[in-house]
Amino acid sequence: MRLLSTLALGAFVLPAAAHAADPHSYAQPQDVVIKHIDLDLKVDFPHRQLDGIATLTLDWKNADAQELVLDTSALKIASVEAVDGKGQPHALHYTLAATVPSMGSKLTIEAPKHPHAVRIAYATSPDASGLQWLDPAQTADKRFPFLFSQSESTHARSWIPLQDSPAIRFTWHAHVTAPRDVRVVMSAPNDPKHALDGSFDFTQTHPVPSYLMAIAAGDLAVRETGPRSAVYAEPSVVGKAAHEFEDTGKMIATTEKLYGPYRWGRYDILVLPPSFPYGGMENPNMTFATPTVLVGDKSLVSLVAHELAHSWSGNLVTAATWRDIWLNEGITTYVQGRITEALYGQRQATEETLLAIRNLEKNIAGMPENAQRLTPQPRKIDADDELSDVAYDKGSWFMRTLEQKFGRKDFDAYLEGYFNHFAWHSITTEQMLAYLKANLIDKYPGRMGWDEVEAWVYGPGIPEDAPIPDSPRFDAIDKERAAFLDGTLAANKLDAKSWNTQEWMYFLDRLPDKPPLGKMQELDAAWHLTGTPNAEIGMRWYVHAIRSGDRAAWPAAAEHATRIGRLYLTMPIYKALVQTPEGFAFVEQVFAKAKDGYHPLTRMAVEKLFAKAREAQGKAAVGAD
Ligand SMILES: [Zn+2]
Repeated sequence: MRLLSTLALGAFVLPAAAHAADPHSYAQPQDVVIKHIDLDLKVDFPHRQLDGIATLTLDWKNADAQELVLDTSALKIASVEAVDGKGQPHALHYTLAATVPSMGSKLTIEAPKHPHAVRIAYATSPDASGLQWLDPAQTADKRFPFLFSQSESTHARSWIPLQDSPAIRFTWHAHVTAPRDVRVVMSAPNDPKHALDGSFDFTQTHPVPSYLMAIAAGDLAVRETGPRSAVYAEPSVVGKAAHEFEDTGKMIATTEKLYGPYRWGRYDILVLPPSFPYGGMENPNMTFATPTVLVGDKSLVSLVAHELAHSWSGNLVTAATWRDIWLNEGITTYVQGRITEALYGQRQATEETLLAIRNLEKNIAGMPENAQRLTPQPRKIDADDELSDVAYDKGSWFMRTLEQKFGRKDFDAYLEGYFNHFAWHSITTEQMLAYLKANLIDKYPGRMGWDEVEAWVYGPGIPEDAPIPDSPRFDAIDKERAAFLDGTLAANKLDAKSWNTQEWMYFLDRLPDKPPLGKMQELDAAWHLTGTPNAEIGMRWYVHAIRSGDRAAWPAAAEHATRIGRLYLTMPIYKALVQTPEGFAFVEQVFAKAKDGYHPLTRMAVEKLFAKAREAQGKAAVGAD
């Protein structure tokens, strides 16, 4: 076999073609790609479905191609038509294959005449993995139902038939109807003054990948936080959210100073109900955010810095496959740190970096070697599983290493050049590395060897000379924690009154895995951690209290896990409780009551955990016989 257009680079081979094979999509971009999507959708709350038409404008690449293959998941397809240049429709034959786990159903449309566009009439399923439908009772203000989407990684196909691969970019327009008084928002410029008349139009003029398609609808108020930013949330939440996120305008200006203009126009934030499974989602023009960061003191707004940073790393320059996702998350986590440092100071930025570093060091040791790599091979089955701490925190650690070796001035110029060079494109790790080699490593010889770069990108673990920042305050907390645990410092004598959220997180993170029960009771008596409104502190506290055997913490832990559907804040509590038979029995009941309020992704994650725990208990029981 002859390898075409490849460039040998050290120990690996660099494909020059942009279309990397995407094992998480049925799309065949070598034959045809979507250039534009027109959506005409109705938000149908009573039936929990989106109902309408998607018209896909196509760019045929292969003269011999016979069919258009799309990704779908649990969609009801009513008709498929070809639309010629004059807009005349005619029916096309199509087959919808049986569902394959993590992939959905392949939709094969016979189209040997290469129509200009294909029009698909369809409806979503009430169980669509990318949509969550909430009853009024599950919202903060309890007046209207609520809908929101989460398309990353491979869930756009559950609400739009399309080529669901991050390598394929298209522009789009949507006309959406909804009940009067409901506001619809999407991942395109939104008009904060739009009338609540049941009819909305959105136009995304920049080419975006499918996982950045987003929609939400509900009882949404708007509060403007600057000339190009606003906060959207339920009426009882919007004031608090506008206060927490009042620095958004400054954040945009800070990032522009570092990496060049914000190219999307408006930047708005939608605060979702607490069942949103993630911290935030960088939907273009409209970040979707968890309400768990609304703690009143802006101590968790680096979440917004992260989602905003994606407007450069991720949305502007996009990972071509889920295997390359560290290009989105690692670079974004690095940029997030730079924004946090510029706006909130070195202390907070360093503390957030150290929290991540210490967690990664702890977690990576227990991972299979392949999962320790930024670019794991062979690829995992479920694209959602590609998102791990490694992509975020090892990726950003590599970026900080580059910054240290080349100095801020040169590294900042490099990164701005990278964003400009690859703007509006989806790229592989190997394309990024070729650019890195030419524009940083070879440009400034003697500062970093190529073997060091390869160790970071392709090797397991963390390279030994990885830089670790100093934090005198964390060092002091290490001393206090040790003195508290060995009994020389009483809990009420800890200097915790001066601790910020990150310092509490650090104190709790590094407690022993199974701390002594008496110590946990003493800590709670002094600092009232049970029932804390700060979910970052609460999650860490409940996990340690449960592991210490403190059953008094169970009801509050259950309340936390029922109220919050964010995977990162809820799953550790489930994981701690399934460790014992009594805890497992208790948490099964918690889940039975909580699951109707959970997002499909959270529900699936808990069910997976329970299945594993049952298997482990079965094995333990067999072992005991
Ligand atoms: Zn991210």
